[in-house]
Amino acid sequence: AATARVERMPHGERARMLAGRRVALLFYESSTRTRTSFELAAKSLGATTTLVSDKSSSIEKGESLKDTGLTLRALGAECIILRHPASGAPFLLARMTGLPVLNAGDGMHAHPSQALLDLRTILTRLYGAERAVTVTAESLRGVTVVITGDILHSRVARSNAMLLPKLGAKVVLCGPEELLPEDALGLGSGVEIARDFDAALRQAVAHGPGVAMMLRIQKERLAGMELDLGDYIARYQLNGERMAACAPGALVMHPGPMIRGLEIAGDVADGPQSAVEDQVRNGLAVRTALLVRALGAGGFESVTV
Ligand code: ASP
Repeated sequence: AATARVERMPHGERARMLAGRRVALLFYESSTRTRTSFELAAKSLGATTTLVSDKSSSIEKGESLKDTGLTLRALGAECIILRHPASGAPFLLARMTGLPVLNAGDGMHAHPSQALLDLRTILTRLYGAERAVTVTAESLRGVTVVITGDILHSRVARSNAMLLPKLGAKVVLCGPEELLPEDALGLGSGVEIARDFDAALRQAVAHGPGVAMMLRIQKERLAGMELDLGDYIARYQLNGERMAACAPGALVMHPGPMIRGLEIAGDVADGPQSAVEDQVRNGLAVRTALLVRALGAGGFESVTV
């Protein structure tokens, strides 16, 4: 609802919401969509933004997360958007600075704003914008979301597996044992594991709407793990042939960056069922609402979203 409210607001009114406020983007890992959308969102609300990235700052010289956070606070930052390779870093930074910290992805742990934009994308693509305004425990009843690929290293999979079942969706995690160990995730209710991608896709669309959410193999987190890419592509790539045979009506999603020809074929990424660009657009809207929530009128406590 907050996202829809901010989205419908006239530009002038929106630009006054955080006028004069300072937002710092602190990125220890690369990012395209998350960083740009948080930055554009903050600017559309009238805030001043500054970017600190590990590659061009004193972080390279060995400055700690704490000292970097305290420096940003001393410079007037009122909110920090943090991407960090260590799970839990946003919670530490919030505690150390007392500022609201928005988690833009922490290691293999969580990517909450991604799950929120994915939820909005599923609701709007399946049911239209109105159904995305108010969500209930029944909003995704009957919907199956098959999340496929490198689940082990994926904060996107974890956040979606936490969020989507709360709204009634069934989440099926699919991938080979190396990338999806049977016991690694501490699965909650509404989440299952599948090894056979074709069968999982068929089942997903058998009794209701199905979503195929594809994930990149996170090379930077493989830590020496060897994968037979030919075999992986044969078993898990989402391509036109597999879509046509197993799930012709499924909605296709990917958080990006996509590696075309590996986990997803170009024809599917660009096809009519692809919601990839909707995900990006919803990212901007959702992150705008998150910033209002963290910094908007009414004062703020230390919030970690
Ligand atoms: N962009 C997503 C993330 O930061 C997914 C990925 O990198 O593959 O987690």
